[in-house]
Amino acid sequence: MNLRLAHLELDRRALRANLALARAAAPAARVMACIKAQAYGHGLLFAASTLAEACDAFAVACTGEGVELRRAGFEQQRLCVLNGPVDREELEAAVTWELEPVIHQPWQLDALARMGPPERLRAWLKIDSGMGRIGIRPEEAADWHDRLRQCAVVREPVGVMTHMARADDRNDRFTAEQWQVFSSAVDGLGAPRSAANSASVLGWPAAHGEWIRPGIMLYGCSPFIEGAQPELGLQPVMTLKAPLIAINQVPAGSTLGYGSTWSAPEAMPVGVVGIGYGDGYPRAVPNGTPVLIAGQRAPLVGRVSMDKIAVDLRGIDVEVGAKATLWGRGLPVEEIAQRAGTIGYELLCSVYGRVPVMRSRSGA
Ligand SMILES: *Cc1c(COP(=O)(O)O)cnc(C)c1O
Repeated sequence: MNLRLAHLELDRRALRANLALARAAAPAARVMACIKAQAYGHGLLFAASTLAEACDAFAVACTGEGVELRRAGFEQQRLCVLNGPVDREELEAAVTWELEPVIHQPWQLDALARMGPPERLRAWLKIDSGMGRIGIRPEEAADWHDRLRQCAVVREPVGVMTHMARADDRNDRFTAEQWQVFSSAVDGLGAPRSAANSASVLGWPAAHGEWIRPGIMLYGCSPFIEGAQPELGLQPVMTLKAPLIAINQVPAGSTLGYGSTWSAPEAMPVGVVGIGYGDGYPRAVPNGTPVLIAGQRAPLVGRVSMDKIAVDLRGIDVEVGAKATLWGRGLPVEEIAQRAGTIGYELLCSVYGRVPVMRSRSGA
């Protein structure tokens, strides 16, 4: 018996199909699959084992995630550490475990310069073309690239990387400007370039470079501000489900939930589903947010509690014990995220470690 009523179904076939869509959108590029943050809540090892054969490298956020993958037996896979090492110990771990750190701080370059041969560390140089988080200035790119290449411990080629701030809006020219800044900064270095997150992979074909870095699209969620877009052909990997634990016939005018924010407009059936913000379902969603029950959309009523939500069951023929889908197959996570005032990324991440995986749909 699980400690939670809610559970996840994870679909390996969908994960692989989404990766194939990323490849199809950038056929000349190599693919670094982003599996940071427990693969956006799906589980690092679930995603790594599903995608190892299909991608050219994995990207994780921190050194510890890279070491975890190596320890779990991913020995040959190229592993890029997007945040780079935070201290000397992590830099040494990157050498030991053959991780590929993203370099962006002067101390990292100095420390690498003092390390001896053999040439075994693959490194990426991060250039800030407008995101403003990590990366050196574009005018420093050639000099840093040169100095990295001269480090005895560093292996050729040294890749160059940047990150787009507004690629999720296909009408915003800033992505084209960032690409211009980046590509001219690294022009002539002969370095493999990596610039494209999912939104750029799908929306900005001129800004791909030699390595793409899809993340969210792999999990079947649209990277664009418009929300769910079935025409993209992405398939949800995670489906979040929970059972209906009660069905109550309530009289007109009866109120429900903390703060009594909803009252019944007429005598009607109300269902209670065993999930809440303690599981990672967002408390911010308002009345009317859809929950899929028996193939129909039941509107949420009242506030989300820690381990319960209520739904309007009018017109839905169902019994206690039936499974409700909170997001996933049949109900895009983008839609729930919009209602919660956030993005699908955050919802997917929020269930990890709270909601157990009940079933993985495998497939060839
Ligand atoms: C997370 C991340 C990505 C992937 O972004 P998505 O929007 O999920 O595709 C790519 N590059 C960097 C540097 C990242 O941090």
